[in-house]
Amino acid sequence: MGENLLEIKGLCKHFNLKKSIFEKNKKVLHAVDDVTLEIKKGETLGLVGESGCGKTTLGRTVVRLYEPTSGEIVYDNKNITNLNFQEMKSFRRKIQMIFQDPYASLNPRQTIGDIIKEPMEIHNLYEEKNRDKKVLEILELVGLNSSHMSRYPHEFSGGQRQRVGIARALACNPEFIVCDEPISALDVSIQAQIINTLEELQKKLGLTYLFIAHDLSMVKHISDRVGIMYLGKLVEISTSDEVYNTPLHPYTEALLSAIPIPDPDISSKKERIILEGDIPTPINPKGGCRFKSRCPKAFEKCEEIEPKLIEVRENHKVACHLYTNI
Ligand code: SF4
Repeated sequence: MGENLLEIKGLCKHFNLKKSIFEKNKKVLHAVDDVTLEIKKGETLGLVGESGCGKTTLGRTVVRLYEPTSGEIVYDNKNITNLNFQEMKSFRRKIQMIFQDPYASLNPRQTIGDIIKEPMEIHNLYEEKNRDKKVLEILELVGLNSSHMSRYPHEFSGGQRQRVGIARALACNPEFIVCDEPISALDVSIQAQIINTLEELQKKLGLTYLFIAHDLSMVKHISDRVGIMYLGKLVEISTSDEVYNTPLHPYTEALLSAIPIPDPDISSKKERIILEGDIPTPINPKGGCRFKSRCPKAFEKCEEIEPKLIEVRENHKVACHLYTNI
């Protein structure tokens, strides 16, 4: 892994909300706030956090389904932040997305063959007479076969539908895929199969992934590096091993303590960190650390000053005042 494929610099995505007649101030939801990270070619970056932390909004902003409020998105050394619809077309072919709910993201009136062929037609890829052959190749890549081409989404199980979602993302021969919680809606036994398929595809096709999830155990399996988000902020990022073996941020420690351990002896000795305090709102967030109301290690400085994401060990960054003076 060498060069960066994607660089995000100070990315913000805010949503203006309607305020009631009794409210004086503008209401702005800070879904993603000043996030900076990079993803190398062929790498998988896992992005983890609880619901509402902004990880899905970040993924959607990267593929330009949402317009960024500020900051920069650089893809393969080209700044794509302000490209218009037409200019984005060639990048849309290279940057694809797999969605959480495969059923909702597939047109129920189209056959699987047509669903996968559609992006090829939009991007004018392959000669028309060769498209069916290409669809079949892709179906086989994701573990389906020719008998599935003429069927409709409702005829498939959840796992098979997600394979169709992956096949559709592959139709344009992409380089980079944002996997937005692709296994969250699936049974545990199927989750591992989908993860294995994604890993095999990465090896065969040289893909780069941004893998968004709230399940830390699955993210560890597939990710080279892991980033942790809390209330719109990236609070920790490092290699998977570093984050899992030596977490620095109190929020990461709490997330890791919640992972179930199958061995009852080890599990009974493990200390679970229960986060107390209110979950703050991302609407007009106040100053200081965003985790302060739930952090068991909070101190005075955390109330006033927002911690910056800094590198405290080699390739290990954290945003927490506990490490500010290291
Ligand atoms: Fe906790 Fe303070 Fe660190 Fe925030 S900056 S995570 S409140 S110790």
